Amino acid sequence: MYDLGVPIPSKKAHVVRNIKEVSQAQREKMLKDTEYSMFSFPADMLILDFLSDSGTSTMTDLQWAAIIHGDEAYGRNRGYYILLDAIRDTFERGNQPKKVINLILSGETNVDRLMNELYLNSFEGGFVNGGVHQLKRPNAFIVPQGRCAEYLLFSTIAPILKKKYPKKEFYIPNNGHFDTTEANIAAVGLHPVNFFSANLFEEFPIDKINLTNPFKGNMDIKGLKLFIEKEGEETIPLIYLTITNNTAAGQPVSMKNIKEVSEIARLHDIPLFLDACRYAENAYFIKEFEQGYHNKSIPTIVKELFSYVDGFTISFKKDGLANMGGGLFFKDKGVFHRKFSGDGDIGIHLKEKQISTFGNDSYGGLSGRDIMALAAGLYEVVKEPYLRERITQVRDFAKKLSQKGVPVVLPPGGHAIYLNIDKFFAGTDMKIEDFGGVGFTIELLRYYGIRACELGPFAFEWDNKSPKEREGILNFVRFAVPRNVYNTNHIDYAVAAITELYQNKEKIPKVKISRGAKLRLRHFQSGLLPLYK
Ligand SMILES: *Cc1c(COP(=O)(O)O)cnc(C)c1O
Repeated sequence: MYDLGVPIPSKKAHVVRNIKEVSQAQREKMLKDTEYSMFSFPADMLILDFLSDSGTSTMTDLQWAAIIHGDEAYGRNRGYYILLDAIRDTFERGNQPKKVINLILSGETNVDRLMNELYLNSFEGGFVNGGVHQLKRPNAFIVPQGRCAEYLLFSTIAPILKKKYPKKEFYIPNNGHFDTTEANIAAVGLHPVNFFSANLFEEFPIDKINLTNPFKGNMDIKGLKLFIEKEGEETIPLIYLTITNNTAAGQPVSMKNIKEVSEIARLHDIPLFLDACRYAENAYFIKEFEQGYHNKSIPTIVKELFSYVDGFTISFKKDGLANMGGGLFFKDKGVFHRKFSGDGDIGIHLKEKQISTFGNDSYGGLSGRDIMALAAGLYEVVKEPYLRERITQVRDFAKKLSQKGVPVVLPPGGHAIYLNIDKFFAGTDMKIEDFGGVGFTIELLRYYGIRACELGPFAFEWDNKSPKEREGILNFVRFAVPRNVYNTNHIDYAVAAITELYQNKEKIPKVKISRGAKLRLRHFQSGLLPLYK
């Protein structure tokens, strides 16, 4: 394939949605009425929405077709079997998927065949036990979204740990905890700790953007080793790796790093889990930039990635290409199963919690049609033309901004671009407590109908923190790019708008929190006031 340096189209539109024409006066009125909160502004009045890539994907025609095959039975709907086998296809089978989904989509009527290949499929030893083994040792849990899987996992293991070692403190290391992961860990009295890669803030030359990648999402191996030595392996119930590293600007993690972390975990007999939300995007970076992977297929790379871990939690609202879905999976009779099964099988404990909070195991809080859309999406998201266009589109967005002189984090990760707000306001009188990033998002929405999200002193509650805590707060505005939604036109409109605002940055207002500065997770709920001169 010739590399022209622009995204190669991997899809065409089949259904479109018209964007409403909204005047600046209408947006201004609405901004005022919603206390200038990005989360409260009606999406229908926007031209472009970069608030999140979570659950915002446009699904493919194959996914929409699968939806009609959904089955809303309470017990053992057909999608349950299809999804569990699609999980095995995706994370265990590499280039040899079975695609039993096709039996249903093609209207197979041979019941013996359906029994043999779908309903009675009995197997054990991987991330999904089948047939009677899933009943005796459950290890696959479908839930509505990623945070539900985190809640299931941590609320179930914390009491087991505290019962066994009542006096100990426990730590969960990660290359960068996502906010809900961190919250779910802290809520049950365990301590989340981050080991960001040392090169995270190193400058990166724009001309190398298509040639090399520093994998800034990696776990700091040295830091992790020292921490285990200092605190003792028995205080670490689990090591977590987030791919891609959303909290660290969506940067990818290398296969080498995953392997190294898994060796450390094995040496200390600690289970290693992935927060696997963007596994396909991460696999594409490995294929593109890591030595030895260029000629490997995405499914083979995904298979290798998951061969190093003991389990994973996942939000399928990202690389499931689905609008809803999440899951928790762990290896049958693996380290996690062994270490947490002293007081009865850990899978049974998890299943009890799943049933009491999200629904029985064969739907887990999802509708049958959502399950079908997700199962079909797992085969769509690993297609290389799709991933190439996706990653190139995000890169193209960053490249164009950088060429206009706008300070953007380089190289960009897989799902979003991040503006460096300290650099953005350099040379003006904007101070950190003036929430310049928020002022920027308000003006971007007001003038151009574009929504982005501040991830800086406002979101991370700078003014409520101690000087020591403040050191860890980054100052970004994030543009998360939804999957399969926008094309080059949309990106070019965003680049033009951002550039124009950047050139008029001295006109961007400082912002005051007018209501709820002390509320928990305030960026979802407090009111704001731009101080126009
Ligand atoms: C989105 C996300 C989650 C949580 O998933 P939800 O589906 O939003 O609950 C967890 N970890 C990472 C890295 C995420 O990006």
